[in-house]
Amino acid sequence: MKRAVIIGDKILWADGHPPGHPLRPERLQNTWDMLQAYDALTVANVRIVPPRFPNETELTSFHTRNYVDAVRHLSQGTKNVNPARYGFGQGDNPVFPGMFESEALKVGGGLVGTELLLNNEADVVFNFAGGLHHAGKAHASGFCVFGDAVIAIQKILDTGRRVAYIDIDAHHGDGVQNAFYDDPRVLTISFHESGLYLFPSTGFEHEIGTGKGKGYSVNIPLLPYTNDEAFVWAFDQIVPPLLERFAPDIVVAQLGLDAHWSDPLTHLSLTTHGFETLFQRIHDLSPRWLAVGGGGYEPTVVPRGWTLAWGVMSGQQFADELPATVTDGYSPPLLHDAEPAPLSDMQREQARNGASEVVKRLNKLLALG
Ligand SMILES: [Zn+2]
Repeated sequence: MKRAVIIGDKILWADGHPPGHPLRPERLQNTWDMLQAYDALTVANVRIVPPRFPNETELTSFHTRNYVDAVRHLSQGTKNVNPARYGFGQGDNPVFPGMFESEALKVGGGLVGTELLLNNEADVVFNFAGGLHHAGKAHASGFCVFGDAVIAIQKILDTGRRVAYIDIDAHHGDGVQNAFYDDPRVLTISFHESGLYLFPSTGFEHEIGTGKGKGYSVNIPLLPYTNDEAFVWAFDQIVPPLLERFAPDIVVAQLGLDAHWSDPLTHLSLTTHGFETLFQRIHDLSPRWLAVGGGGYEPTVVPRGWTLAWGVMSGQQFADELPATVTDGYSPPLLHDAEPAPLSDMQREQARNGASEVVKRLNKLLALG
């Protein structure tokens, strides 16, 4: 049985993005409540560990000092910093009170998890509050203030180890890719809806890294309607051979849930069954792994998806009937989706063909065949 740690504490969702913002803290709270309702955090191989605040050196292992200072000042309500200079403003990246603390804690959760993995005190850690994969060195982007995955990976690299980063969020993991674009010690693999249709408009096959990092950035852009079958097929074609060749010491995986068919922000067509298969694949392929959260904007999907992820990590199977205490507000009242994604035959074929084309192009680019 794997030693599984979950980074959880109500301080992680006490504050956060303001009401009306898609990345609202209730996503985390509801996930935690569902895990508690399933009694999923009390078995012998499981530990709950709270996050800690990262220090300046850790934050500036990725971000510029100017940016870290700017986030702190904006968070305190100072008027002498221009938010637009750092990517903040109305819309995706609003400034909110306590932003520095709330977002830094998500980084600290990843660092606590990384330390447990490095000290061989855990086999798998789930920091479901993390996964903010769009944050830049000196700017906020796509709801992301601090790059928790980048900072965790940096900490692992400092010990001389190699990291594979796997990102199944519907959006391209541009922040993580950019941070290690010329670095052969980090293999980044991002599955996402094609940048032709979705933010951040990057993540095409030809983005394979630069200099010594050439061949260590891998992008699998998928067409709208990509469903469980096409996604999992593409995953199986690409990820196992790459990981075998790269032989990472630790896998960091971003488990955003916005590829679900009902997500209001994207156009992919996964179900909870597809997610669970992907979680299991990553689990089986990883010597040790730090799992982080990410996107997911359909409130009835996020707690169920991450509960299934935790089931895979901690070796627990949960009854499909949701515990009575969480049934309110969740429809249908089952852990797994009761229905397949609502797709026409033509859409299913588009998904299959799209995945097949992108795998063909990647095989050529990366010489995987
Ligand atoms: Zn996303």
